[in-house]
Amino acid sequence: MQRRQFIRRLGLGTVASAALALPSWAGERRPLRWKMVTAWPRNFPGLGTGANRLAEMITAMSGGRIRVKVYGAGELVPAFEVFDAVARGIAQMGHAGAYYWKGKGEVFQFFSAVPFGFTAEEINAWLYYGGGMELWRELYARFGLIPTAAGNTGVQMAGWFRREILALEDLKGLKMRIPGLGGEVLRRAGGTPVNIPGGELFTALQSGAIDAAEWVGPYIDLAFGLHKAAKYYYYPGWQEPGSTIECFINRQAFESLSSDLQHIVLSACRAANLEMLSELTARNQQALETLVREHHVVVKPLPEEVLKKLKALAEEVVAEIAAKDPFARRVYDSFSRFRTQIAAWSAISIQAFLHARSL
Ligand code: CA
Repeated sequence: MQRRQFIRRLGLGTVASAALALPSWAGERRPLRWKMVTAWPRNFPGLGTGANRLAEMITAMSGGRIRVKVYGAGELVPAFEVFDAVARGIAQMGHAGAYYWKGKGEVFQFFSAVPFGFTAEEINAWLYYGGGMELWRELYARFGLIPTAAGNTGVQMAGWFRREILALEDLKGLKMRIPGLGGEVLRRAGGTPVNIPGGELFTALQSGAIDAAEWVGPYIDLAFGLHKAAKYYYYPGWQEPGSTIECFINRQAFESLSSDLQHIVLSACRAANLEMLSELTARNQQALETLVREHHVVVKPLPEEVLKKLKALAEEVVAEIAAKDPFARRVYDSFSRFRTQIAAWSAISIQAFLHARSL
């Protein structure tokens, strides 16, 4: 997207023009040059472009006092090394998903997505007003990092299947690309979860090396051509009902900023959080129409019996994380308490309204 177009869409005209035409003091003080390493290929639809926009926003909002350069996966460091790279100060910022760091601790996954966990609206409520952000900061402080939410995928799809899922038995022996906690749930349901990088997904599914694959949602999945590899597109994305995309900042770099710049960086992340969810929501519905009308994809709900079983297994898998260490217990308790409360409110607000609208 063109820079001006992007800026217009954000309504940042005044601030942005300051960044485009460098202010008079620009010669007096050199701008800070920050690097943002990401877990996505450069310009990856939705996620990579989301990182680009966040970088542009920080540069524009700071009037060019911070210039952020984005690096795609593998350009400065590989995708799964961005966390350590920012912790070590190789880059000042990282853009990824917290579940990528589950090797450092299963508890990381609570800050991206939990099967049958939170929607985008609910995880934002937990993070900003329910104690989630404090816990997230406490965890990342151990690594010299400050985490923030900088995007959300919204409800994902359950995935692409080469054959129909009519009952629980159909999951037995199913070889599916589904990472993280969702994958563990599938394993307990009798399936074989595998994790395959995005770039290899299409070939694996088309060749029959795997029987099914979950990726994100209509917009991104269409861009990857997954509809050419499998016919059935199942919903809802029980495994990732509203995945938070994170931006983490090197603490030392952050603390060296003046207070106004610190606010600009964090506010840009908040804006990016809304921006990505809005973009994906808008583009998902357009892409869904294309998938159905032009590509004749069969869109189906997973049977309730299957969802009920997956939910029961997910509760088991998630509760086991709490037993790992005292910190994981605190995060699990906060997550569980908030989910119980928000479920009561969501049932009579969003859920009841969506039902009413569909009558
Ligand atoms: Ca996914």
